[in-house]
Amino acid sequence: MNTTQKFSQQQIFDLLEEVKDPEIPVISVVDLGVVREVKYEGKKLIVTITPTYSGCPAMGVIQMEITTALLEAGIIDFEVRTSLSPAWTTRWMSEKGKKALKEYGIAPPLDNEGNESDLFGEMPAIQCPHCGSKNTGMTNRFGSTPCKSLHQCKDCLEPFDYFKCH
Ligand SMILES: [Zn+2]
Repeated sequence: MNTTQKFSQQQIFDLLEEVKDPEIPVISVVDLGVVREVKYEGKKLIVTITPTYSGCPAMGVIQMEITTALLEAGIIDFEVRTSLSPAWTTRWMSEKGKKALKEYGIAPPLDNEGNESDLFGEMPAIQCPHCGSKNTGMTNRFGSTPCKSLHQCKDCLEPFDYFKCH
C-alpha cells in the first residue's frame, strides 16, 4: 500500500503550515513563501523550496523540518528539492505571514519595496510595528540574523527588526 496517495496537495500545504521558520517561530514556511510547489511525479511527492536568500543558514533546518513533518505524516516516498531560480521575493510572503511578523514585533517587508534601494542605503520609510509611526531609522544594517536589519522608532523609541530579505 502506498500511503502517499492519501494526501492531496492542499493537505500537504496544510501539513507544512506546521513547519515554522526557525528564526521567526510565528511564521510558517508556507506563509513565508519558501514552499514553492507541491506535486506528485508518479507516486513520488515533490516539495520544492526556495531559500529567502541563497546563503540563508536556516534553509538546512527548514529542509530537515519539512522532511520530519512528512515522515511523521506517514509519507515515505518524497523528495525535498531546492530551487534557486526564480529567486525568492518578499512578494511571495502571504498577507497572513506579514501580519504574524508585525504582531511578533518585526516590521514586515513593504509591498512596493524597491528591491535595490536598501543596497544603496536608501531605506524607504519603515513602519514601527509597535506604534505604527513611520518616523524610524536604521541603527544597524544587520539585525539578529542576516535577513533582518535593526531599526529604532523615533516616536516610541522601541527598537525593532525589519525583515529585509528579498
Ligand atoms: Zn514606535
